[in-house]
Amino acid sequence: MDGDQTDFIWGVLDMIPSAETNFPDVRNRTAVHSNNGSCMIIPREGDKIRLYLQLTNSDIRDPATGRVDMNRFGPDKLMEVAKASFQPYTMATTPDKIDWWTVYISKCFGQRVASKFSVHERVFIAGDACHTHSPKAGQGMNASMNDTHNLIWKLAYVLRGWADTSLLKTYEFERRKYAQELIAFDKEFSALFSSKPKSDEHGDGVTHEEFLQAFQTFGEFSSGIGIHYAPSVITAPAHQPA
Ligand SMILES: Cc1cc2nc3c(=O)[nH]c(=O)nc-3n(C[C@H](O)[C@H](O)[C@H](O)COP(=O)(O)OP(=O)(O)OC[C@H]3O[C@@H](n4cnc5c(N)ncnc54)[C@H](O)[C@@H]3O)c2cc1C
Repeated sequence: MDGDQTDFIWGVLDMIPSAETNFPDVRNRTAVHSNNGSCMIIPREGDKIRLYLQLTNSDIRDPATGRVDMNRFGPDKLMEVAKASFQPYTMATTPDKIDWWTVYISKCFGQRVASKFSVHERVFIAGDACHTHSPKAGQGMNASMNDTHNLIWKLAYVLRGWADTSLLKTYEFERRKYAQELIAFDKEFSALFSSKPKSDEHGDGVTHEEFLQAFQTFGEFSSGIGIHYAPSVITAPAHQPA
């Protein structure tokens, strides 16, 4: 795998907000970047929402060993972080409305791409086996399914004798470049989220405009319209929007 490993700690909580919640955009995909902590809302099916909450080392690591201790965290503690992050608005739920939670360190995932996606067009890898990044971009499963869709129709064409085996080279050509772009973006996006808003105190922080620009670019990746394959035997760029 080529790439870096970066250390960001995030909590994820799926829940239905209770009536006290007065955050106005609770049903919209939302990013909050504040000195109280960064977080994201992903609206889910029904009234459920997913919260991504930025945590700190002191929240989750055992001070004696420096190791991550999952027992230091639970849904109640995640809700405390959420309440702080959404101030001055109220974000609330009740224990029976909490569906699932987890904590992850993006170092576990790393942000890396395999140097090859196939060996002599005979053995192929796809999905998390060839690209790993933080779950925040919400693209791992999408990228994995697109990898295999891209590969399978080409395999079918070659096996049925409808195309030359060289068609299979376009799998790595197309999907590895996409994975590199996604990971470059994910790295930048994770770092932006984990930085403080720019202020007198945090001169190296991120401005609202920089954050907004990154969030809009994020939309292109998550919707799939940010994917452009370079010219090849099967891709003519003439009719692709810039
Ligand atoms: C907290 C979190 C939130 C996420 N949210 C999103 C999201 O919102 N949207 C999104 O698109 N993605 C999301 N993802 C990422 C997504 O779950 C993965 O990218 C996706 O599951 C990868 O699919 P895969 O088939 O490549 O690998 P996997 O789903 O890991 O499948 C690999 C399978 O191979 C099996 N296996 C392993 N070794 C062997 C072996 N030796 N023999 C046989 N079988 C073996 C494993 O048991 C597993 O079932 C999230 C991930 C996390 C952790």
